[in-house]
Amino acid sequence: MRIPSKPLLEHITKELDRLADKFPNLANALQSLKQRATSRFQDESIDFNSVKDALDAIVKDADELDTDGYLYAIGQQLTNQLDPLSRSLLSGDVPVLPELAVRLSHSEEEAASQVEAGHSAPGSRTRLGGKPQWIQSDATPVCSACQKTMTFVAQIDSLSAEDSDLGRILEARGSYMFGDVGMIYVFWCSQCLGTQAVFQCE
Ligand SMILES: [Zn+2]
Repeated sequence: MRIPSKPLLEHITKELDRLADKFPNLANALQSLKQRATSRFQDESIDFNSVKDALDAIVKDADELDTDGYLYAIGQQLTNQLDPLSRSLLSGDVPVLPELAVRLSHSEEEAASQVEAGHSAPGSRTRLGGKPQWIQSDATPVCSACQKTMTFVAQIDSLSAEDSDLGRILEARGSYMFGDVGMIYVFWCSQCLGTQAVFQCE
């Protein structure tokens, strides 16, 4: 999947022309920045890594052309707009899973009521906190920035059991099936504000 260049080019042109009208003293510098920025999106479509490289290059261009700090700030502002725009252009084909409300309860009470009911509800391994219930072996990530063990936040279970209405509806739609009844584990580093996810299945 690639990102069409046209909407990005249109945004660059529109935004820098608007700023040139607003700040006539920067018009020449903005024109140069526009030429350089648009030259980075000459292919009809572009992959996401190349967009990221192009955005870094635009900030560098703005820094080079800068005389008083304004153009660098404009370069950053422009790339801060282009980043979410390129993400939304890329996300067109990604399915949106059906939205489900989540009810929180103390996990021991919940587990007891499931044992009583004699079956597990679909996605019943889903948890916030506690310890991860690994399907395979322990794969707790180490934060790549600070090299410390990350904090377990949640595990999100596949919703697969057919012995409930919700399970049947979701099964029919083929949603929330992560691999072969797999689980997604989410981790957090409070020091670096970093996240990581791990996937496991049988
Ligand atoms: Zn960290």
